[in-house]
Amino acid sequence: MNQDELYMKIALEEAKIALDEDNLPIGAALIIGDRLIDKSRNQNRTNKCWSDHAENSLIINNSKFIKKAIKEEGLEVSLYTTMEPCLMCLGTIALHRISNLIYACPDPISGAARINLNSIGAIYQSNFPNIKQGYFTKESYELFIDFLSRHQNCIEMLKRYKSFREDILKNSV
Ligand SMILES: [Zn+2]
Repeated sequence: MNQDELYMKIALEEAKIALDEDNLPIGAALIIGDRLIDKSRNQNRTNKCWSDHAENSLIINNSKFIKKAIKEEGLEVSLYTTMEPCLMCLGTIALHRISNLIYACPDPISGAARINLNSIGAIYQSNFPNIKQGYFTKESYELFIDFLSRHQNCIEMLKRYKSFREDILKNSV
């Protein structure tokens, strides 16, 4: 297992806990230099908060460490997440100057990582992370489908994600 797989596996384990807690199964891991600093998971439903996303919470909880690592220690910061980040999380990633974003599963409905850079402000463009997609894509997708299948009010969403299945899985590392 290479380093990318190892860190994505940690994020995936968080996503599984999120599913067990009846939250949308998305997990994330934060790496500074070559050290795992922290991990997190989506807790939307548990905390009754629409913005309690794995990536956003993880970055905000570790904001001071990230800033110190980048500004004082010259270290790279990488974020692993099991699902393509939404616009909010991507904004938080860029504002924290995170160097590398690695996500397992493309999200054709809520994902923002493939945004057209020319359509966003200069501060986001200059701090936009290097992005890589792959590692445990199928497993991450299946956790998502599992969650949607358990919730009657997610039937339409479930159909849409199922219809995207081949596109989501075809380019996986
Ligand atoms: Zn998000």
